[in-house]
Amino acid sequence: MRLVDSHTHLDDAKFNEDRAAVIERARAAGVERMLAIGTGSGPPDLEAAVRLAGDYPFVLATVGVHPHDAAKATGATFERLRELAAHPKVVAIGEIGLDYHYDFSPRDVQRAVFSTQLAIAAEGAQPIVIHTREAWEDTLEILRREWHGDGVMHCFTGDVTQARQALDAGFCLAFGGVLTFPKAEPVREAARFTPADRLLLETDCPYLAPVPHRGKRNEPAFVAETARRLAEVRAQSIEEVAAFTTANFERLCLRGRTPNG
Ligand SMILES: [Zn+2]
Ligand SMILES: [Zn+2]
Repeated sequence: MRLVDSHTHLDDAKFNEDRAAVIERARAAGVERMLAIGTGSGPPDLEAAVRLAGDYPFVLATVGVHPHDAAKATGATFERLRELAAHPKVVAIGEIGLDYHYDFSPRDVQRAVFSTQLAIAAEGAQPIVIHTREAWEDTLEILRREWHGDGVMHCFTGDVTQARQALDAGFCLAFGGVLTFPKAEPVREAARFTPADRLLLETDCPYLAPVPHRGKRNEPAFVAETARRLAEVRAQSIEEVAAFTTANFERLCLRGRTPNG
């Protein structure tokens, strides 16, 4: 079985003690690729994921400014993002979007930084990884107006209506640990509704560990638990789920390339 964890924060300090062992466990669990999200602690450091991808051939990277950190972005940030976007192991721009739950950056600044990064992704014809929280309408409006490429709604926790909107806008939906939570029936309905060629798996580790690890530190190996649950929800085998989610990731992010080193 070949799995991909399409959203990890392996640079997080929670992995400082045992990062190599965590990555080894993921490989042993069949996770053949991991996408390291490069938002880190925000600008000026934009290379959290690029560094990790340099250490492991099967780790790919994104670069981007998280909406939380939007207020830290400057002209120099965007210049550097453009340079890093061309790095051979950078396969997407993200996670970018809007977060009105925490409002760590002013909303108008979040929207402006989001738009600028959409333009950078478009320049490099790269897919985008979207983070949206309590900002669904604004996120969709900006995407519909300004985005004509590919992308993924990371940590999708919406219902069938929102799934349909995201799918109509051309996005893939990535499901993580929330899919396994007892109260998440609307999310499971959305996962049942989504066509197989638009589904991805992720952990968003170290956050949001799936059942039976809920409440503990999440890690890429646990993507197998979410794959198992997704297979149940869709009445498919875990092998089928692994095969199509991996193929979708490769189509979205690799586009026939084999980045390593
Ligand atoms: Zn996120
Ligand atoms: Zn994330």
